[in-house]
Amino acid sequence: MKAALVGVGQAGGKLTQALVRNDRENGYGAVQGALAVNTARQDLTPLDIPTLLIGQDVVSGDGVGGENELGAELMQEDTPEVVNALDGTITSRTEAVFVVAGLGGGTGSGGAPVLVRELKRVYDIPVYCLGVLPGRNEGALYQANAGRSLKTVVREADNTLLVDNDAWHASGESVTDAYAAINQTVAHRIGLLLAAGEATNGVAESVVDSSEIINTLRNGSMAAIGYASADASPDPEENINVVTSTARKSLLTGMSVPETTESDAALVVVAGHPDRIPRKGVERARRWIEDETGSTQVRGGDYPLDSDQLAVLVLLSGITRSDRIESFLDRAREAAKTDPEPDPTEAFQNDELDGLF
Ligand code: GDP
Repeated sequence: MKAALVGVGQAGGKLTQALVRNDRENGYGAVQGALAVNTARQDLTPLDIPTLLIGQDVVSGDGVGGENELGAELMQEDTPEVVNALDGTITSRTEAVFVVAGLGGGTGSGGAPVLVRELKRVYDIPVYCLGVLPGRNEGALYQANAGRSLKTVVREADNTLLVDNDAWHASGESVTDAYAAINQTVAHRIGLLLAAGEATNGVAESVVDSSEIINTLRNGSMAAIGYASADASPDPEENINVVTSTARKSLLTGMSVPETTESDAALVVVAGHPDRIPRKGVERARRWIEDETGSTQVRGGDYPLDSDQLAVLVLLSGITRSDRIESFLDRAREAAKTDPEPDPTEAFQNDELDGLF
């Protein structure tokens, strides 16, 4: 899938850079272009992708602290500059845009929902958010900001692909110490998903097409991604159990939003050497994911890799019933303690969280 990435805020910029690097290093060619946008000059300086400083008139390059409403305001004011800077990054070949942000801070939290809405006005292609949820030990401001940001971005984006900051760091390690490792993990999984949508070389028996990613994501408002890999035998018959057990591991222990086992739609990509991928195993894995998640649609395909291992990537869309999202929203509501404001959006009914706009 030919994607353009726009990182907003510090986490957004770093994650976008990690995604660009991963795509280049593996020679995927799925990431067509990228831009990092921030109100804080010092967060843009270390990045080696194109950058744009916004809100200079108001905050002089010093950032917005944790004020996500200010982040939203500055993004709104400078939308023309951002859209301008994306000229050449988003082209007629681009199939989807990902706005990447940590939802708990200020610039990304406020700016990402605004940018998603504005990009949707300008472009006909899907605009997704790749959003990071704060871990449970991050402060109340992060939780409250992320709650409001999530509520707003879910309404605006074609889908919001979530990564819980607690998903991929070792117990005992702080989230901050784990940033680099988490970003690598995200880049690897999302990178493989986008690359899978590009694998049209005819080597694989059944390839995944960009439209299958888009159609899977169309069946929901929030999504999560899982991955696991295992050693494989040169004999595909011996790999039937390898594929099914790896699919299980991917869903049960490898998800970007842990404890997510229900979804409306799923995409299952089996990556590995085409000679080692067992058709029967792939079929069984898909059926198992279908039963386990209750998904009405499970799409799938192979991704040819010159490797001794087999890997299973699972994209789940329509994950509103995830326990982890529920407990995050409880934390966010508790931290926000705002007046009730009914909202018809799925997952936010009878909600005390205010949207950002
Ligand atoms: P902003 O620059 O104002 O948008 O704020 P940040 O991007 O620093 O957003 C804060 C949230 O993002 C918090 O939940 C942080 O834990 C998280 N965060 C900051 N940097 C990173 C990072 O490099 N990786 C990940 N996974 N999360 C990050």
